[in-house]
Amino acid sequence: MTVHDGRLVFPHWPCSAVQARSFEYLDDELAQGEREAIDAHLRRCAGCRHAFARDGAFRTQLRHATPQETAPDHLRSRLLDALRRASDGGVA
Ligand SMILES: [Zn+2]
Repeated sequence: MTVHDGRLVFPHWPCSAVQARSFEYLDDELAQGEREAIDAHLRRCAGCRHAFARDGAFRTQLRHATPQETAPDHLRSRLLDALRRASDGGVA
């Protein structure tokens, strides 16, 4: 960590580099310096904060998703609708 003119100076990372590491960041698999660079970038960059929030939610879903889990209500009613429409079509 370098202190210059009273500010912390990190290598400048482009958004693409930051977002490419989102899952490693969320899984806490980054080296300390990389983590700090990303933290610093996220403080300045709303776009990457959004991307990380989205990836975090996605990752949580993946982690909790199991084949045994029941489908969410909106998905289940959509499936039932599709089935009903398909069988209606067969009769008509
Ligand atoms: Zn960014």
